[in-house]
Amino acid sequence: MYLKELKLGNEAKCICDACNGTGLYVGFTERNGLAVICNACNGKGYYTLELNESRQLVQDEKNGVVYKVNDGIITDRIRLFDKLQRRDGVKYVMYGTGRVLSPEYLFEHGANEINVISYNNFLKGEFPIPAMQYTCPAELAQSYEDSSFDDSICMKFCGFNSLFSDCKNYGSEECWNKFYGNAKTIKEKQKRLKNMK
Ligand SMILES: [Zn+2]
Repeated sequence: MYLKELKLGNEAKCICDACNGTGLYVGFTERNGLAVICNACNGKGYYTLELNESRQLVQDEKNGVVYKVNDGIITDRIRLFDKLQRRDGVKYVMYGTGRVLSPEYLFEHGANEINVISYNNFLKGEFPIPAMQYTCPAELAQSYEDSSFDDSICMKFCGFNSLFSDCKNYGSEECWNKFYGNAKTIKEKQKRLKNMK
């Protein structure tokens, strides 16, 4: 049975497997209720699947499982995305830094509630702004697979020859200004971050 009755059109939103539809990731570096934006879906909780002649969806009527189809062959099973799923135990959300951090440490060391936002605000659609001192924009762009960041500035400072954190310009305003470009206000910066790809 094809899913015509679901009126999926040319694309379907599917639950991101990396974060189970929560938009968040909690690893061993996140402590005390801290979660980071999932770098597979950039916090959306879903990925978009384009549907066409060779890539359709079929449903297992008995089990309610949806499959991707390639030329008549079932290639994968997916779950359709409805809304962001809640994740137990999360209190704060930020962008990943690759370091072991807790909200308490961050607030004590210069991060504010724009950098580390409450989980409730995340659920309302707000996005954190990375705390400059804990991240390099080239590092962020790499981990979120954002190719729109012009990293030519890196050649001037570290040349990608060492760890991002060893760069003498790590977390500088100059680098972040390059990342944000024309985005100056918090809202514009949030939009720039949301559109990373
Ligand atoms: Zn995800």
